[in-house]
Amino acid sequence: MVFVLDKRKKPLMPCSEKRARLLLERGRAVVHRLHPFTIRLKDRLLEESVLQPVGLKLDPGSKVTGVAVVRREERADGPWDHALHLAVIVHRGDAIRERMQKRAAHRRRRRNANLRYRAPRFNNRRRANGWFPPSLRSWVGNVLSWASRYRRLAPIAFIEIETVRFDTQALQNPEISGVEYQRGELFGYEVREYLLEKWGRRCVYCGAENVPLEIEHIVPRSRGGTDRVSNLTLACRACNQAKGDRTAEEFGHPEVQAKAKVPLKEPAAVNTTRYAIRNGLCAMGREVRSWTGGRTKWNRERFGLPKTHALDALCVGDLAGVSSWHALVLEIKALGRGQRCRTNVDAHGFPRGYRMRSKTVRGFRTGDLVRAEVLKGKRTGVHIGPVAVRASGSFRVGKADGISWRCCRLLQRADGYGYMKGGRGASSPGVNAGASGAA
Ligand SMILES: [Zn+2]
Repeated sequence: MVFVLDKRKKPLMPCSEKRARLLLERGRAVVHRLHPFTIRLKDRLLEESVLQPVGLKLDPGSKVTGVAVVRREERADGPWDHALHLAVIVHRGDAIRERMQKRAAHRRRRRNANLRYRAPRFNNRRRANGWFPPSLRSWVGNVLSWASRYRRLAPIAFIEIETVRFDTQALQNPEISGVEYQRGELFGYEVREYLLEKWGRRCVYCGAENVPLEIEHIVPRSRGGTDRVSNLTLACRACNQAKGDRTAEEFGHPEVQAKAKVPLKEPAAVNTTRYAIRNGLCAMGREVRSWTGGRTKWNRERFGLPKTHALDALCVGDLAGVSSWHALVLEIKALGRGQRCRTNVDAHGFPRGYRMRSKTVRGFRTGDLVRAEVLKGKRTGVHIGPVAVRASGSFRVGKADGISWRCCRLLQRADGYGYMKGGRGASSPGVNAGASGAA
């Protein structure tokens, strides 16, 4: 689908590629943005058009975040989401960490080179509330800035996001955790996923892996054990039967009994950043709903979708089915906006060459998407791609080097991201996937 804006740049319902092509050919629209492809109608206002409920769904991961823009339809069996646009945002946390470490090493060498030893000063420096390391800050920033961009491209009415992997509140609550944990039920599914994660996907008694595991009561129900997750573990069939009516301690595994009482903790960094993303989304003035990863996975398996980041985003939320999930996935890669540092250094941190003081040359910046039409010489032809500028005015466009700035025309300003029309959401051409169809 193609994003559509009205003549005042307010978002309208996305349209099909074919319709966009016709509008452009007839001169009723102009290209507003190349990635994600957006057109602007010259003769239409938002007030004259009908909007349907459109939502933005996010599945933030530490390396890759899945994004889905969907149209929601209320059917008799529940809400269905039709994918209008699928994307993945590839974060650059590792690159940032690497650069920061390199910079620290160079600074350390420079200080140590000319200084006698001094004892470190008393460390009374505090970090501000809500501080994140730069790698995580860029992660949160990527997700929030794209949520805000999609809000400008489509009439987003609600945002759904996967905030936690397990709903630990519901899992611990005995009223909810009744005898419901049969297979197929969402709650049972979450319990099972939680236990697999907590107990490391193996039999706790004999350590067998890749065998069918059964949910097992540490203190048997016949002896007053409850169905709470703090009394559950996973065991292979043989161990489960051998244990019989004994508690784990009597069965010779007191460590299992001790570990069971400690709830599974997600890494603190993941939680704080996820809540930072959630709070940032709430500030955008749209209805925000958060869901668990367990529910996402349950939906995905119920609908029979393959595991990709974009499809995970599509499966977030309380759904009866999804459609159009075979759409092309746009890969958005965070690249950064260049360096502030103007001095290049060699492997030992010594200065070696200087960068230009100004990042702009003849109105172009490194990373801008340009179209270069070369009329003569060995580079004759049309080159389209990101530009790398030089002070001399001889640029590199894509892979073609030595192209004069005079041949270049700006297509889209560098915005810190690279774009690739990635693979499909799935290789098989499935169009509809509902709970009823898969069951
Ligand atoms: Zn076993």
